[in-house]
Amino acid sequence: MKKTLCVLTSLAVCLSFAGSIFAEEPAKIKLLIIDGQNNHNWKATTPVLKDIYEKSGRFVVDVATSPEKGRDMSGFKPEFSKYEALVMNYNGDVWAKETKDAFEKYVSDGGGLVSYHAGDNPFRDWKEYNEMIAIGGWGGRNEKDGPYLYVKNGEVVRDTTPGHGGHHGPQVEFLVETFAPEHPIMKGLPKAFLHCKDELYCKLRGPAKNVDILGTAFAKVNEGGTGNDEPMLMAITYGKGRVFHTTLGHDVPQCKCVGFQTTLLRGSEWAATGNVTIPCPEDYPTEDKISVRP
Ligand code: ZN
Repeated sequence: MKKTLCVLTSLAVCLSFAGSIFAEEPAKIKLLIIDGQNNHNWKATTPVLKDIYEKSGRFVVDVATSPEKGRDMSGFKPEFSKYEALVMNYNGDVWAKETKDAFEKYVSDGGGLVSYHAGDNPFRDWKEYNEMIAIGGWGGRNEKDGPYLYVKNGEVVRDTTPGHGGHHGPQVEFLVETFAPEHPIMKGLPKAFLHCKDELYCKLRGPAKNVDILGTAFAKVNEGGTGNDEPMLMAITYGKGRVFHTTLGHDVPQCKCVGFQTTLLRGSEWAATGNVTIPCPEDYPTEDKISVRP
């Protein structure tokens, strides 16, 4: 009897110990990457993004791949509500009204959204999508879509000058500087990191409402830029939803930058939960030296 009690007690201790371990481990965040059409290499970048997310230990990832360009989109109806955030690796045909409505409801009801690189290129005529991403480029965007958004001498500028939206020069290494150090996504990160050779998006324009610029890069005129500090990382609110917008990550080599990966993970966690727990890794790039993972 004594022996049985002893075993039972040990078992109870073990179970409560295991319980406390599991209690401290937060449930993994469910993400859905949306791809299928893009003027970028989505077939290569989606698996890389999935790997970045899952290796962090914080996320589990599914992928929704749309029909090919020019095909009937009416059957493309991902179950957005099964996920805590959606990641746009998509730049293609307009979705069916039912899918757009479900997407709008999902974000305005509090779902997270991540716009990754060319995720800010599609859907020029979809007003609600442009409010979610704040600014976008290409696709015929111009002054009718809203102001250019950038930083000049430390001040946020909404510039209504007429002109097309979306531009980048040749790929260069550039410094991404924190603009909102107290925002949860940026808090605790070094004040700047040197990003590996990538397209430095300039001249993005759009509604530019409810947006915090988190990080900028100076677009040098002699490298095809505007001479402004251009928004690279942004946080937007749309209804009850949170949106993280990164312009970085043109292709697979750019996704290997630890600065890109860290801000993507932290931004996605914030979009999904409103909090950031993912730490700054030891191999984070410095202001002088890029850091890429194999
Ligand atoms: Zn690109």
